Amino acid sequence: MDKIIVKCKTCKKDMKILNKKGKYRCPYCKAVYKLNSFNKFNLKIGRVFKDFIKTLVDIKNTFKYRMNVAKYHFKNRKR
Ligand SMILES: [Zn+2]
Repeated sequence: MDKIIVKCKTCKKDMKILNKKGKYRCPYCKAVYKLNSFNKFNLKIGRVFKDFIKTLVDIKNTFKYRMNVAKYHFKNRKR
């Protein structure tokens, strides 16, 4: 069974639960966390958003790298 990490609403600690609708007890503060399809939807959106940010960072790094390479070649040509 797939496991996901959610944030406890009471103590804000991460807890690992099954990726299945139901009630889960937080191991830290014993508060009950209810997982429903809406929570799951939010988690999915969060993951997609993270991937999107990562892609943006990758693009930025690639661009930076290309700029550095271009600068390097430019300097070498000048000499
Ligand atoms: Zn808790």
